[in-house]
Amino acid sequence: MAEIRSYQMFIDGAWSEAADGALLDSINPATGKVWCRFPAATSSDVDRAVEAAHRAMAVGPWATMTATARGKLLRRLADLLAERADRLAEVETTDTGKLIRETRAQIRYVADYFHYFAGAADKLEGSTLPIDKNDMFVMTVREPIGVVAAIVPWNSQLMLAAVKIGPALAAGNAVVLKASEHGPAPLLELAQLCADAGFPAGVVNVVTGLGDPCGARLTQHPLVARIAFTGGPATARHVVRNSAENFATVTLELGGKSPIVVFDDCDIESAVNGIVAGNFGASGQSCVAGSRVIIQSGVFDEVTARVAERAGRIRIGDPQDAATEMGPLATKAQLDHVEAVLARSLAGGATLMGGGNRPQGFAQGWYFEPTILLCPHPDIASAREELFGPVLSALRFETEADAVRLANDTAYGLAAGIFTRDGARSLRMMRQIRAGIIWINTYRAVSPMAPFGGYGQSGAGREAGFESLLDYSRTKTVWINTGSAPMGDPFAMR
Ligand code: NDP
Repeated sequence: MAEIRSYQMFIDGAWSEAADGALLDSINPATGKVWCRFPAATSSDVDRAVEAAHRAMAVGPWATMTATARGKLLRRLADLLAERADRLAEVETTDTGKLIRETRAQIRYVADYFHYFAGAADKLEGSTLPIDKNDMFVMTVREPIGVVAAIVPWNSQLMLAAVKIGPALAAGNAVVLKASEHGPAPLLELAQLCADAGFPAGVVNVVTGLGDPCGARLTQHPLVARIAFTGGPATARHVVRNSAENFATVTLELGGKSPIVVFDDCDIESAVNGIVAGNFGASGQSCVAGSRVIIQSGVFDEVTARVAERAGRIRIGDPQDAATEMGPLATKAQLDHVEAVLARSLAGGATLMGGGNRPQGFAQGWYFEPTILLCPHPDIASAREELFGPVLSALRFETEADAVRLANDTAYGLAAGIFTRDGARSLRMMRQIRAGIIWINTYRAVSPMAPFGGYGQSGAGREAGFESLLDYSRTKTVWINTGSAPMGDPFAMR
């Protein structure tokens, strides 16, 4: 039997157990067996991490480090990530079941995100203001906000951590990162890289543990000034309520039920590839999954048939095998959720065009087939609710106005795909669809330079892009009296 690996948390530059010694198990979704153990942080562990971060911002090398020097540390971290990408990928794949070919590629790309933020560190500028008063010189400077609580889910943890801690550190903040109980190991490995890169003690802390108490304490802590959260809307509500305790600024990256709109005049191959990537990449466990596929009548049969044909050929298997195209779902709860929504959708009138079962030959692990549901109307459960699994719901439309109405018929608003050869129409659709990201004739593309985030129930704030750096800094306004006379008596009549 393989040995169970042990991890510790990283607090104030040192490895640490939980105060009461409690541990949690992480399960390998491909086998359903425990593969590592990690600490279940108590509130006092979280306090220790936040206090260490607060200290690091007040005294010591981080407090006085130039922005250029911070950028150099981030660059070193990026290089270490790229060097150790294969090991990290293996850890992430074991922890979450995400395909090794996806984790390898994604972690190398995460290094590019850190390079981007490294370069941006010394480009955060203040300004001078053309003020409406004589004898006054007024300028603004940008300063770090304080201790950042960064909370991430289990999917794409390193990427989701990078878009938080990258800009946070570039702008001079210190971070307490809370990993998901379902996939903590890659972030604990990242903590080691931060130490190796030379970040001073307390600047990056990684705590592991349950949402409550670990996440709950972190988001209420009086010394936390900024919260960056990725997860589901229900947890986000807790986070926002908790922030009433510390008035921290909050950004939220939440779920989605994103539409992919396919017009009769599209390049069919491109649309089919976009739909397959948007639904079966990462086994559909992606916040930007394009799981409401809205197809114009003229190509509905052809597009759904070609998607079903490609889905039927997807190679399901061991996520550590580079040839595998779809791995397991990350948790048993995810699998149960997918099956439950599928059953309600079929009972509600949807018909199955492919998939719909656990694949044969996978007695262990939490595998599910790529699944295509034909939905007669948008109120079918699978067309409304986020499944976070490999299930797409296909809906038919006739006119452009119908497409807009269907696309916007959701409380979410993270992303949307539009497939058409008509450039003017793609821009009309882009303007009318309420979503933070629009992909035209492509899907699921991301970049360090491109802001990422949603509308409505999909959250608030943007990650990546230069504007995210502004979100991790704040403005200080400085007034300077340039008059030659001393300041006048405020009560003297003039
Ligand atoms: P959850 O909302 O359950 O958990 C997210 C994180 O919040 C975890 O670290 C969790 O810890 C923590 N948490 C739980 N309770 C609290 C609390 N009371 N206070 C503070 N933190 C808490 O999401 P999932 O892990 O299930 O992740 C899937 C969700 O994430 C999906 O809805 C998905 O759409 C969304 N997502 C959004 C992305 C985006 O960028 N928009 C990207 C990727 C995912 P613990 O694990 O210990 O419970």
